[in-house]
Amino acid sequence: MPNANGLLDIRNLVKHFDISGGLLDQFRFENGKLVRRRTTVKAVNNVTFNVKPGETFSVVGESGCGKSTLARTILRLYPPNAGEIYYRGKRIDKLTQEKMLPYRAKMQMIFQDPYASLNPRMTVQKTLEEPVYFHNKSISSTEVKERVATVMELVGVDPKWAGRYPHEFSGGQRQRISIARALTVDPEFIVADEPVSALDVSIQAQILNLLMDAQQKRGLTYMFITHDLGVVKHISTRVAVMYLGMVCELAPAAELFQTPMHPYTQALLSAIPVIGELKPKHIQLRGEVPTPINLPSGCVFHGRCLYAKEECREHVPPLREVNTDHFAACFLL
Ligand code: SF4
Repeated sequence: MPNANGLLDIRNLVKHFDISGGLLDQFRFENGKLVRRRTTVKAVNNVTFNVKPGETFSVVGESGCGKSTLARTILRLYPPNAGEIYYRGKRIDKLTQEKMLPYRAKMQMIFQDPYASLNPRMTVQKTLEEPVYFHNKSISSTEVKERVATVMELVGVDPKWAGRYPHEFSGGQRQRISIARALTVDPEFIVADEPVSALDVSIQAQILNLLMDAQQKRGLTYMFITHDLGVVKHISTRVAVMYLGMVCELAPAAELFQTPMHPYTQALLSAIPVIGELKPKHIQLRGEVPTPINLPSGCVFHGRCLYAKEECREHVPPLREVNTDHFAACFLL
């Protein structure tokens, strides 16, 4: 059953991609026999968590850990292979596109590259109007114009520039326009996928402050996808750490940075440089991240873990509560 306090509830979510290619690509000779093999990228594997109203829930992990796929699957941009998604207690993972429409207005996404996510042939006015008309068929044009001007002011872009095209703006201004587009339909929940990583460092703080400001003014709930631990520490209420498509640790942000419990989280956080520390205590992991096509048996981290034991190679550690509201998936805990 979905969590009564959760805005969003994810239960055992799975997203795999079949990359086998055509029928002929799937056959090969093995030990003198012709066998058919399918190749599957196991991007998201059995992920369970909930996001509470008004919080900033961050998902962190190295590139390729499945965090962006997880976000897109939650928003139904990819259909899940298994698992359940509940929004305000209503199951949405099996809804048709038509029945999904009211939820699409409530759940918006901000992408990493503002230039790629804005239509270069559309003025800012058209870009911001389009989703409003799409989700409110009977709205008047005066009301739409007012709404566009309000969100432009909120994100710090002068409404006088509404007739301009995306290429006439800087990277930071384009990301402000992307945020404005997400806000025009009055959402409750926004997934921000690496929203500042394509921007100059000097602009990143401005955009983060803008997002925090909008959250306070409009009571928004955020899910932040990022690999930038500095950003995560600054903005998050709770943090989920992902490794090879699985959540290995989930805790309130302050506690996670203070007392990381999972060996992978400890290694990840040890890579953050500390001002004034001459010898960084960086935990060196062995080996490379395995491919999500061939997931290791047992604990997916066992090949790189400094504490792996026999049990870790055979059994998958469950994500369990190791402290109040602090979950980790490790046999050591
Ligand atoms: Fe390491 Fe075993 Fe814990 Fe996995 S379960 S993190 S391999 S100790």
